[in-house]
Amino acid sequence: MERVTDFKVIVIGSGPAGCTAALYLARANLKPLVIEGMQPGGQLTITTEVENYPGFPEGILGPQLMELMRKQAERFGAVFRIENVDKVELKSHPFTVTTDQHEYQAFAVIIASGASAMQIGLSTEKALQGFGVSYCATCDGFFFKGKEIVVVGGGDSAMEEATFLTKFASKVTIIHRREELRASKIMQERARSNPEIEFILNSTVDEVVGSKEHGVTALKLRDLKSGATTIFPTQGLFVAIGHTPNTRPFQGQLTLDERGYIVQPHRNSTVTSIQGVFACGDVVDHIYRQAVTAAGSGCQAALDCERWLTHERITERWDLPMGEEERIDR
Ligand code: NAP
Repeated sequence: MERVTDFKVIVIGSGPAGCTAALYLARANLKPLVIEGMQPGGQLTITTEVENYPGFPEGILGPQLMELMRKQAERFGAVFRIENVDKVELKSHPFTVTTDQHEYQAFAVIIASGASAMQIGLSTEKALQGFGVSYCATCDGFFFKGKEIVVVGGGDSAMEEATFLTKFASKVTIIHRREELRASKIMQERARSNPEIEFILNSTVDEVVGSKEHGVTALKLRDLKSGATTIFPTQGLFVAIGHTPNTRPFQGQLTLDERGYIVQPHRNSTVTSIQGVFACGDVVDHIYRQAVTAAGSGCQAALDCERWLTHERITERWDLPMGEEERIDR
């Protein structure tokens, strides 16, 4: 595998957090490499219209917004490569980041690998993503004004999203696979007392019916007690069955919390459990999960990174071939 030492700072991930970090690093003349990952542009590339990103009064398509962010970082010298990180070695410095194509060495790493909304796993669900199937009520709720929609899931996210969606939809039906909900009492009660929310329990979605042209028109449901299947007409499907942070390559290297999110041990800093490794965006945030908050934390990570490189006097040794500068073992 080819060993590459041309990039001194590596950003892992190319969503709003990664692109913003790359923009700030590039403008600081740090010429970052952005390893784009499996889904270049991140989660926004599976939504359609984005109406809550400041600066776009008419809204903008998710993939288009990501293209603009990427171009803006490239304009100042950031390099983007569609590769996927398989493993990292962060316990000795310079760090090593191994992708499916190269082995990179870098003085600093910013992790912006995001989180993935869990999917039910149906081919028809995948085919209609952005065409009536959504994973984010805050992002897409507005497009379902006056419509009847379904939320799948029984946790706090499903209750919260369903409650939020009643601001737009004329009726919201929560479909959950068990009799008992997983959500906290207070969230359950809020949803149960809302007259615009109905529940279908002990049921799963077997198929999403619809087309890109007409959007979602119905769901094929299976009653898990009787085994019977029915067609349930609806105009939208919100899947709220949890998120998983994309941290598999960092297990055993960085401190992660019990859900797998990267821990940031210091208040007001994006540094992780290892000096020189920073994290931003959804890989650390399971609460806000917005493009604008991810972008904001990407900026913070880049500034923290730049300051650390200066403080450690690494920028002074910038032009030395990598490996000839002193190794810092941790
Ligand atoms: P969660 O608590 O893990 O709940 C996921 C739900 O989706 C469960 O009800 C689960 O069913 C269901 N599910 C999982 N896989 C499924 C599948 N393949 N098909 C159908 N249903 C499936 O996830 P979450 O609701 O996103 O919450 C994550 C964490 O964030 C929790 O700690 C939660 O308290 C917190 N949170 C808090 C708030 C708040 O306080 N405002 C809001 C949102 C989230 P089972 O129950 O049968 O496993």
